[in-house]
Amino acid sequence: MTALTQNRAWTLASRPERQVSVADFAMTTSPFAASALAPGEILVRNRLFAVAPTIRNGLNPPGRAYRGSIAIGGTITGMAGVDVLDSRHPDFRTGDRLVALSRWEDLSVLAPDRAPVPVFPVPPSMSFEEALGPLSPNSLTAYFGLIEVGRPRPGETVVVSAAAGSVGSVACQVARILGCRVVAVAGGPAKCAWLKDACRVHEAIDYKSVDVAARLAALCPTGVNVYFDNVGGEILQAVLDNIAPRGRVVLCGQISAYDSGGAAAGPRDMMRLIYGRVRMEGFVVGDFVDRVAPAREQIRRWIAQGDIVLRTDLRRGFECLPQAFTDLFAGANTGTLLVEA
Ligand code: NAP
Repeated sequence: MTALTQNRAWTLASRPERQVSVADFAMTTSPFAASALAPGEILVRNRLFAVAPTIRNGLNPPGRAYRGSIAIGGTITGMAGVDVLDSRHPDFRTGDRLVALSRWEDLSVLAPDRAPVPVFPVPPSMSFEEALGPLSPNSLTAYFGLIEVGRPRPGETVVVSAAAGSVGSVACQVARILGCRVVAVAGGPAKCAWLKDACRVHEAIDYKSVDVAARLAALCPTGVNVYFDNVGGEILQAVLDNIAPRGRVVLCGQISAYDSGGAAAGPRDMMRLIYGRVRMEGFVVGDFVDRVAPAREQIRRWIAQGDIVLRTDLRRGFECLPQAFTDLFAGANTGTLLVEA
């Protein structure tokens, strides 16, 4: 049982109408009295938090939150690396280490069977940093989204947005490994240089300084075969203006719309998609839960061989969670953003 008697928690202080800010969060500290767990529950100590754009969706009001809206005063939810301190669940024991959908607090009582996201056991040989970094659900998102939804063929042109980020950088490199020509779209010269030098993409477009549609037209004269879309909005439109016949658009995320105060906009010209026989398909990584182990193994091999490089942006201190989170929307993260409690 834990020695902690106080539980710090980051809660939602105000609902962001548009751009989320640090002031939308409040830290509370309350006494933690370990009460008896109900059957199926586990008590965990949250050690490492994955700071992910998808958390933004839970800050929206009911009706615009796809996995439940967090109430004002409610604790922020997100994936974390956790130590099991106590268990009344038959599959988990004290001392187990898991990646689970948890909360931004020191101690949490979780009910894994009722969680919308499956719990991943973390073997003793794997650190939480690895489990939430290189071998994380984000890497698996890139792997399954590209291979299963995008279905790229060798020689095809693949475009990836938010390409220097956690999901995007893996999508770029898997596409390159599969023999595709990779065009990465990211914000700023430093991210573009890293994508070309370290991730070995063929071209990188700095969307903050050039006209993306015009640049794609110049770089992809026969069109874009697969677009791995992390951002939506104007970059999605620019790619659709350059999509090849029978192109595939992998709808992974729409980060450009998360702070917009409204729904993410669709394409401007559906007729172009009809005549181009273009397929757009959304997915969530949880769709592939039964195939996680071999996929993780493949990603691990590629990393060991030097075929995939990843960056982890590790911050230290429970206090910095809101600042880290808002950095995602300013592009101020370099790779997978993790906060150690
Ligand atoms: P990330 O890419 O590491 O970080 C977010 C990046 O998005 C920022 O660094 C920034 O990079 C870019 N960005 C922010 N605002 C933008 C805007 N207005 N326009 C263009 N780019 C913007 O985050 P991640 O965790 O890997 O997530 C990437 C996407 O995947 C998100 O949309 C997320 O919701 C989605 N996702 C989906 C699933 C799924 O199952 N479908 C699972 C995980 C994540 P720049 O500096 O390049 O602008």
